[in-house]
Amino acid sequence: DAAPATPNADISEADRTHVFHSWSAQGSLAPMPIVSGAGCVVWDAEGNEYLDFSSQLVNVNIGHQHPKVVAAIQAQAELLTTVAPAHANATRAQAAAMICEVAPAGFSKVFFTNGGADANENAIRMARLFTGRDKVISRYRSYHGNTGAAIVATGDWRRIPNEYARGHVHVFGPYLYRSEFWATTEQEECARALHHLERVVQAEGASTIAAILLESVPGTAGVMTPPKGYLAGVREICDRYGIVLILDEVMAGFGRTGEWFAFDAHGITPDLITFAKGVNSGYVPVGGVIISDAIAAHFDDRVFPGGLTYSGHPLAAASIVAAVGAMREEGIIDNARRVGAEVIGPRLAALAERHELIGEVRGSGVFWAIELVDDRETRTPVSAATMGALKAALLGRGLLPFVADNRIHVVPPCVITDDEAHRGLDIIDAVLTEFASAR
Ligand code: PLP
Repeated sequence: DAAPATPNADISEADRTHVFHSWSAQGSLAPMPIVSGAGCVVWDAEGNEYLDFSSQLVNVNIGHQHPKVVAAIQAQAELLTTVAPAHANATRAQAAAMICEVAPAGFSKVFFTNGGADANENAIRMARLFTGRDKVISRYRSYHGNTGAAIVATGDWRRIPNEYARGHVHVFGPYLYRSEFWATTEQEECARALHHLERVVQAEGASTIAAILLESVPGTAGVMTPPKGYLAGVREICDRYGIVLILDEVMAGFGRTGEWFAFDAHGITPDLITFAKGVNSGYVPVGGVIISDAIAAHFDDRVFPGGLTYSGHPLAAASIVAAVGAMREEGIIDNARRVGAEVIGPRLAALAERHELIGEVRGSGVFWAIELVDDRETRTPVSAATMGALKAALLGRGLLPFVADNRIHVVPPCVITDDEAHRGLDIIDAVLTEFASAR
């Protein structure tokens, strides 16, 4: 007789049979079961423990199963689990108010969405309606979400005010390690990237450009903290040409960089801020746009042609109130900044000295990338097969990593302790040592 399937195997089999997964060819998938979590660890169905250095999709900033957030969701479920967006709801208003409190001055309204992609969709829509222009400039090496066609496929009147020219233009942003600008210093990279951006604005026709949309720190693309002065330079270009600056804080915001918003460290204010992930650590799906007063006022006497059934869902709102409250009360953002500066940053720098495989480490807070290369001179990225093997080896030692292209992103929850950070980094160190000796 065949041995009975393990609980993990049962979950995997049920998943394989019925769940269609994101961004994947379905045939060869073997998703890892996770059944529970607490703080920075998760467990599979057989009690194997993993230290979560991924924060799932870089969203569980407050850690797994934070009791205050779980309790707030439960309490709201008892009171009112759902309500249409057109009604006034106290929990929703409180969530919006708390988000505005941590945003810069001059932002008093929030439009809630279901996640990050539709936050960007709606920010783009606002910028287009506000400026009467069509084009949107964003960066190569960025990720802003997975929607785009739904409203144009819509058959009723809501389609019509949204039928814009689909003008998406891309520029290269600053990324000194793989500079597109032959730069050798951060200052050169910054100045040349800004020159390139401004020339694209002029060449496209400034009067056609509604928005420049940037991740404050491009995340999935490689945790590329912009050099000092870059975001300020972009702000100046936007002001010079009447362009709306949308900063996508979906991944970088709510603590990840050790700030409420990543742009806080760059001394500038955008016109629209998009958020999701860390605002409630993904306990309930939610995202949104924080709207500057000037853009909000534009819609005082004009219809905003956008909306979602679950905009400002009460369970999401309750989880935001509790999560933002806990982040404030428990100094969670300060912890992210401190662990980044005192533990993760110095230890990654030390790993980079010892391991030939590491081309560069960069980041802040709990938002870091280790870029792996076959050759430090040519900076040739390691192969996908090597990354797959590294990931398996990290998992084998109890570390759940976030792996993208040729990089390991060190992106644990903001609540990580020094001990947990050391434990995870020890595992990365051991696995890199093992790989070096096998080469
Ligand atoms: N923007 C950024 C910077 C992201 O990292 C993501 C998701 O990873 C998104 C937008 C899309 O968010 P969602 O997957 O919630 O739609």
